[in-house]
Amino acid sequence: MSGNRINTRYIKVDQAHPEADAIAEAGLILRGGGLVAFPTETVYGLGADATNGLAVARIFEAKGRPPDNPIIVHVAFRSQLNALAASISAAAEILMDAFWPGPLTIILPAGTGVPEAVTAGLTTVAVRMPDHPVALALIKAAGVPVAAPSANLSGKPSPTRAEHVVQDLDGRIDAILDGGPAGVGVESTVLDLTSQVPIILRPGGITPEELRACLGRVEVDRDAISGYCDGESPRSPGMKYTHYAPRAPLLLVTGSQPAVASKILEMARVEAGGGRRAGILTYSDSSDYSTVGEVVVAGRRDKPETVAAGLYSALRRFNEMGVDIIFAEGLEEKGVGLAVMNRLKKAAGGRIIKV
Ligand code: AMP
Ligand code: MG
Repeated sequence: MSGNRINTRYIKVDQAHPEADAIAEAGLILRGGGLVAFPTETVYGLGADATNGLAVARIFEAKGRPPDNPIIVHVAFRSQLNALAASISAAAEILMDAFWPGPLTIILPAGTGVPEAVTAGLTTVAVRMPDHPVALALIKAAGVPVAAPSANLSGKPSPTRAEHVVQDLDGRIDAILDGGPAGVGVESTVLDLTSQVPIILRPGGITPEELRACLGRVEVDRDAISGYCDGESPRSPGMKYTHYAPRAPLLLVTGSQPAVASKILEMARVEAGGGRRAGILTYSDSSDYSTVGEVVVAGRRDKPETVAAGLYSALRRFNEMGVDIIFAEGLEEKGVGLAVMNRLKKAAGGRIIKV
């Protein structure tokens, strides 16, 4: 970004019945090439007119996003896909019937008119229809499909509340629509339908189990499971970057709960002995770590969707606490737990201890 701060309009809207004048104002900003942050059912998005390459380029500048990372286009009607995708397969139709509006992004062959800033030069385009009254109303008001990555500075935890967006992007974007907390808490599942067998590039709100029930065979990309990319050319360019990282280094500890607990207690004691403050990311049935560090409970271990909803807020809490190091308990990689573990592995940037 050039360093010039702009005046960011902060607009509060009702989550279920957004006020028409507020939505119209935000829609006009988008049509004029501006940037508007808005709530979706996954996380807050940072929107620009997807048909305007210059507007989309401003997203990269505001977020500090690497230029080779393409952006998901959000639609309010399926007919908006006609100008975005070169073709729509039968599998895509089945998935849209089953999961849209909802946290599933599908990758299709791109139409010729899609700006290069959106696709980062790929021949494919990622599209989704969000399940949120504010997001849908905004896209309709804009009258164009809306390109929107998560509304955070690149590399930081994604925003699940408007105040997270303010922390990262105030002065860098034109407006923030505050429609309360996002629901799912982790981003959409990204499913590539241009490969022979559909493949999940990023686990998210829709689980592999749900997709398989609908399509039969669905693979999960190796890098999406390991949480880091060792290949030169990941299928989803965004996966090669460190993501979701709080300020302090995060160590992810996986294994049986008692073994994880004794390892974290041991390491946190060492930190405390050295005069450093440890933060510990846990679940509601975890061991008592309060004597060795600052505990943040992300959700319930047996209900991974509650952990998804609380994860990014928990990571940002550690920034507010100013801890020196974070130990995170692993979660079973089942259901939405797969998406949670993918984000934790990325936040850990390879610092994973198996006990
Ligand atoms: P975010 O920026 O947080 O919304 O993340 C979007 C994710 O979707 C990133 O990991 C991108 O690399 C991925 N993505 C977007 N478009 C494509 C595409 N055409 N092919 C593969 N991955 C994509
Ligand atoms: Mg993101």
